[in-house]
Amino acid sequence: DVRHGPILYLEDVTVSFDGFKAIDNLNLTIDDGELRCIIGPNGAGKTTMMDIITGKTRPDTGQVWFGSRHNLLTMNEPEIASLGIGRKFQKPTVFEALTVFENLELAMAADKRILPTLTAGMSGEIRDRIDEVLLTTGLAELSRRPAGILSHGQKQWLEIGMLLMQRPRLLLVDEPVAGMTEQEMERTAELLTGLAGKQSVVVVEHDMGFVRSIARQVTVLHQGSVLAEGNMDQVSSDPRVIEVYLGA
Ligand code: ADP
Repeated sequence: DVRHGPILYLEDVTVSFDGFKAIDNLNLTIDDGELRCIIGPNGAGKTTMMDIITGKTRPDTGQVWFGSRHNLLTMNEPEIASLGIGRKFQKPTVFEALTVFENLELAMAADKRILPTLTAGMSGEIRDRIDEVLLTTGLAELSRRPAGILSHGQKQWLEIGMLLMQRPRLLLVDEPVAGMTEQEMERTAELLTGLAGKQSVVVVEHDMGFVRSIARQVTVLHQGSVLAEGNMDQVSSDPRVIEVYLGA
């Protein structure tokens, strides 16, 4: 069976909006623990692809599997999220009046398995998990400060931290470095590459310098299907990719 090894598997997926194929026979395999960057011009289908994986959009045809056991096309959005698929949208949405620590605590409450423990008082286990995420995201020093005082970059890291509280198996991250300073981009590169291996990470990103700095494997989407796949040197020297980007 081909469905062994990959954490995410899309086969011959097509989605039409009013007869227009936003996703057109898309095939994509993400291996367990992989960090994959998805690039492609505006309208290539990147957002629609993320919407399909999370169950927000239903494909007309094709297969979408999480691991070998979970047919995502039979599941709704909350069910898919509960498998451990976390999505980070471009704009950070943290609770500005709450502290960094409280934001992470609240993110834990979204985990139904933990909720009873949380209402009964915070266990050492939860505190440990928050401490671990504070270290991973580099926000330990700021844990008692309100999230509202964080820089744009720090808010993005906090939101990634909030997703990590639920121990996702697959993180989908939309344009993480938009609006970041050079230093924040470097820190974000460290954070995302550090996460890979422990979980699988799919990053949609426009900034080619950033993509080059993090990705071993890049998928180029164009007109709803895969135009090229490989490492950054391979895809950026592909004549079809050059044509699409120069033509855009
Ligand atoms: P990307 O994220 O790569 O910019 P999208 O997935 O947002 O691309 O869009 C792919 C194509 O599908 C675009 O041409 C877009 O206009 C179209 N599209 C996306 N969502 C809808 C929708 N809900 N209704 C109609 N057209 C849509």
